[in-house]
Amino acid sequence: MLRHTHVMVGCAVTVAVFQPRDCATFIMSLAAGAIGSEIADIDSATSKSHKDADRIATTAVAIVLCILFMDNKMNMGICNAIRNNSSYLRILIGVFAFMGLCLYGKEKPHRTFMHSLFGMLTITAAVWIAVPVIAPYFFVGYCTHILLDLFNKKKIQLFYPKKKGICLHLCKADGITNAVLGYTATIAVGLEIICFFVL
Ligand SMILES: [Zn+2]
Repeated sequence: MLRHTHVMVGCAVTVAVFQPRDCATFIMSLAAGAIGSEIADIDSATSKSHKDADRIATTAVAIVLCILFMDNKMNMGICNAIRNNSSYLRILIGVFAFMGLCLYGKEKPHRTFMHSLFGMLTITAAVWIAVPVIAPYFFVGYCTHILLDLFNKKKIQLFYPKKKGICLHLCKADGITNAVLGYTATIAVGLEIICFFVL
């Protein structure tokens, strides 16, 4: 699937699964779901160009900075929730582990480490070390990416480091299924936002 579809499905499913009740949790689930749902494709730099990987890394950093800025201006309680749930040492260790694993995955071939259970669990563990409360949202977003890619006609090494790849051969990454899923998930995210803030 393409990036837009991954992100929208990741956000829609994460919010639907956790059904956040307060603003801080809602924003955190959307952001962590979005980052979790696209981070796996950071390895596409090894098969295409570095542009995709750079865009993913830039988007992830932009999301984090944007949330910190909004929280500072609107006092949504996100920084407080993170502060109460973690420590500077945990954040430092977790962020270094996260970056180290992503850099490792970025250098591996597309659809290998970053698209495996091993990769998903170790990277989620790094997020958990940094800020435990965010890890479940990130994990669900990541799961949606792996599940969607399994429908593709190209194999992923789900059980990396085992070389054998698997896929369900059901659709092309940029075909009609991708478009339908992308639009449906975008509408779902829109409805979730409206339901949360308006209703
Ligand atoms: Zn992928």
